Amino acid sequence: MNLGITIHAGETGNINNILVAINQFGADRIGHGTAAMNCIDTMDLLRTRDIAVEVCPISNRRTNSIKEDDAYTFHKFMEHNVPFILCSDNPAIHKLSLVDDYRVFLYETQDLSFILNQFTLQKKYSFINPNPA
Ligand SMILES: [Zn+2]
Repeated sequence: MNLGITIHAGETGNINNILVAINQFGADRIGHGTAAMNCIDTMDLLRTRDIAVEVCPISNRRTNSIKEDDAYTFHKFMEHNVPFILCSDNPAIHKLSLVDDYRVFLYETQDLSFILNQFTLQKKYSFINPNPA
């Protein structure tokens, strides 16, 4: 039906779930993709196929998929030019919003230009057709 496909994969460290999501199910975006930060080949695959990772900093800490002392995935993704967008995984459960995820990112990276570019990236990786028939 020509719809975009996003799949939660690799949230808790199983890199193979990301590869299956991409290679067998044609994912256009990957939810969390935490495991990718430990595999250069997977980060290369995400970059060359232009598959965006939905990075959810607050959720990743609260679910312990990123341990308290570990660096957030976005550091590695920025280093390897992996496309990603900041997302709030579950605002109702966390009682926090996307703004809070932005705040975590900004605190960690001091990269205001990335935040200011988020709307452009979110439009690029959204599944909205900019040129409907
Ligand atoms: Zn999730």
